[in-house]
Amino acid sequence: MPPLAKYAGLLMPNGERRIAGYTEASRGCRHLCRHCPVVPIYNGQFRVVQPDVVLGDVAAQVAAGAQHITFGDPDFFNGPSHAMRIVSALHEAHPQLTYDVTIKVEHLLKHRELVPRLARTGCAFVISAVESIDDAVLTIFDKGHTRADFVEAVKMCRDAGVTLTPTFVAFHPWLTLASYCDLLDTIDALDLVDHVAPIQLAIRLLVPNGSRLLELDAMRAHVGAFDAATLTYRWTHPDPRVDELQAEVMTLVGTRPKADRRELFAEISRLAHERAGLPRAADTRPARARATVPYLDEPWYC
Ligand code: SF4
Repeated sequence: MPPLAKYAGLLMPNGERRIAGYTEASRGCRHLCRHCPVVPIYNGQFRVVQPDVVLGDVAAQVAAGAQHITFGDPDFFNGPSHAMRIVSALHEAHPQLTYDVTIKVEHLLKHRELVPRLARTGCAFVISAVESIDDAVLTIFDKGHTRADFVEAVKMCRDAGVTLTPTFVAFHPWLTLASYCDLLDTIDALDLVDHVAPIQLAIRLLVPNGSRLLELDAMRAHVGAFDAATLTYRWTHPDPRVDELQAEVMTLVGTRPKADRRELFAEISRLAHERAGLPRAADTRPARARATVPYLDEPWYC
């Protein structure tokens, strides 16, 4: 395989680029969120990878130059004791190594006493699949958290010294132009603009074969034929203006992968508020030379 330096790397706020590696401490997921493509494959099953295997994999990657490890577990806190055993041993063996993990809002709040320990063992950031800030949509997704839980998790992670990197299913059949503006305004109000990879503002709900969303009339009402090329069901929004906005946002994001996150966010926000006919608060925070949080230079999304 090509050397690790050829893959995505971690950009630190001080401009340093750290060579990143990848491993998994578990496979599958205990949960059954309706929108999730992991569910049709694992159906609530979760398996740990033995610690010596994980640590051996990390040691080999460190020897090959890795300075940061992405844990690709669908949810790192499906097995919190196992997860903490891994990162404690990893930090002891490689004190300079940083890492990132994915943890759902529900688990962050349930195991909040572990979050400062993540910070102390080199966790550069935690990805969390927030998906939506609309409680009705979160119920459809069976996501296990509310808008208020998300806001609480943002504060808790900040207090614990951990960077939270939310991901979203920005476009889905229950979105309105106004609720998209609410999503953007909330990200801004929580001072998360630097934390959110711009692609997250363009992502459209994925409905793979076996998706639990297909159990719902609310979803089936919007679904068309199965597309064998993308292995997903096509869906259209009842308001064509929402689909048009999604295409415009995707063009903005997709043609400028290296653009400054704040500039791009402001452009998307201006466009969305214009389309919704809503006033937009003026930019209060100045543009910065670079983001203030660490992030991988190739954004993660599913
Ligand atoms: S969204 Fe996350 S927590 Fe929910 S089933 Fe998928 S991997 Fe598990």
